[in-house]
Amino acid sequence: MARVSASMPMAIVILGAGALDTARRIQTSFEQARVHGLASRVNADIAYDDFGAHVRALYASGTPIVALCSAGIVIRALASSLADKIAEPPVLAIAQDGSAVVPLLGGMSGVNVLAREIGVSLGIMPAITTSGELRFGQCLLAPPEGYALADIEQGKRFVSDLLAGETTRIEGHAPWLDDADLPRSGDARLAVRITPLAAHDEDSLVIHPRCVLAWIEHLSSDDDDVAERIRAAMRAQGLSPLALAALAAPARYMTSRSLEDAARALNVPLRFCDAAPFDADTQGIALHVSDTPVDAQSIGRARGALTVIGLGPGSAELMTPAARAVLVAAQDVLGYETYVRMAGPFRDDQRVHMTDNREELQRARHAFELATEGRRVVVVSSGDPGVFAMAAAVLEALDEGRAAHPEWSAVKLAIVPGVSASLATAARAGAPLGHDFCVLSLSDNLKPWDVIEKRIAHAGEADLVMAFYNPLSKARPWQFDRAIDIVKRYRDPHTPVVLGRDIGRPAEALRIVTLGELKSEHVDMRTMVIVGSSTTRVVGDWVYTPRWYE
Ligand code: SAH
Repeated sequence: MARVSASMPMAIVILGAGALDTARRIQTSFEQARVHGLASRVNADIAYDDFGAHVRALYASGTPIVALCSAGIVIRALASSLADKIAEPPVLAIAQDGSAVVPLLGGMSGVNVLAREIGVSLGIMPAITTSGELRFGQCLLAPPEGYALADIEQGKRFVSDLLAGETTRIEGHAPWLDDADLPRSGDARLAVRITPLAAHDEDSLVIHPRCVLAWIEHLSSDDDDVAERIRAAMRAQGLSPLALAALAAPARYMTSRSLEDAARALNVPLRFCDAAPFDADTQGIALHVSDTPVDAQSIGRARGALTVIGLGPGSAELMTPAARAVLVAAQDVLGYETYVRMAGPFRDDQRVHMTDNREELQRARHAFELATEGRRVVVVSSGDPGVFAMAAAVLEALDEGRAAHPEWSAVKLAIVPGVSASLATAARAGAPLGHDFCVLSLSDNLKPWDVIEKRIAHAGEADLVMAFYNPLSKARPWQFDRAIDIVKRYRDPHTPVVLGRDIGRPAEALRIVTLGELKSEHVDMRTMVIVGSSTTRVVGDWVYTPRWYE
């Protein structure tokens, strides 16, 4: 069960500027927290338009919600979602002035722990209403990391019985209960049992230490249900599947899909070793049961992951939740300094590697080296990573380097898309890309200038809308004017041109000019240029290209 910690990306939701101070005070203790503000009333980290829809979406995604408004507003907003049988995230209502902290939902996911942590940051006592928690000083149904509750319904009955006056024994080793205020007695009918064995005992609160390690020595090519084989092996020894701490296998199976599926199905980490981590005398699956929980991180290494993500044009709201999730899980973050800063803030346990913008291949190789050590590595690009950005550089590095570094091919590689500058700029302006268009980089750093001229001419002749990235830089002062001269051969001077600068960033500026007016002074490296086709039109403040063509 996830425990709350300062690293959790919780959502602090506010309805107006009056709550911003309190929100920021809470945020200082929770680095990954973002303040979500009602767009029409307050400028926060993430904007939303509809409170109810927004908190329901956060709830459905399992995001802890700290709402700075009345408990009633939160309850009404979430009422329709409560019947859904999902893992419930912590939900709290907090008085706008920081004078009250009320945990509402998520008793099993640590809402009271979170309430206490927020209480500390605000200097007040939270309003804990859970009777078991108040009586025993902790939630008996949320054991610490390394332990799993066997059955929630059975657990609730156990807590009710204790609250009704019964006493309990403790069987097994439960160090976290040492300072719990439990009514203990040696001959009690009820028992807290700490055991890896599957127990069907109505009178016990059964908690499984995650102390079983499964080693898969051999994998045949048709081994598609490894999870079921492990469950069966555990059943044969009377072990609960919840006592499983990790799956381990020889490093040669690093890219095995069936092992990955099995680890996901069993909800445990997958580790790779050069030799069995214990004396395994079987050719198939071997189980090892330790006395105390096993720290999976101490066994072999993980399969490294390298994910290339797009941050979008700049603002947090235009970053996809998928990209955000990858950043939260990252151990190493690489990228050009400006973009890495855009992707932050980072936790102390995350390593950040900032480089110069031009060192792309070197950065990509470095990313593979880190991932080969078993780390979760993220390479960031602005916009979309596949558009004039790092995704291609990473694949170039793999293409060139994999013969010399076969281990790079075992890295779990993924590309997560982002909102590219042309799309973000187009949306601000209307729909200039509403019909066929092309995307060109005007930079001649990596391609000869005459290729660029030829492509512009062909795009002009084909009557495509053209989106120009990298329009101009100090090192390339004359190229933009040349490009525009070529476009003018094919387009009327009245053709609308959209200029988006720093779109999605605080200094955002959008300008609509005609091709006849367009000059190189209008653009720089932070500008996106969209030149219309023969059908691109202006309506009021909007620019669009109709979907039809004659
Ligand atoms: N991968 C990025 C593009 C990198 S090339 C993407 O998909 O957006 C860099 C060029 O993108 C800049 O020279 C500029 O033309 C454009 N660009 C990037 N971010 C921008 C923004 N926020 N506003 C306007 N143009 C931007």
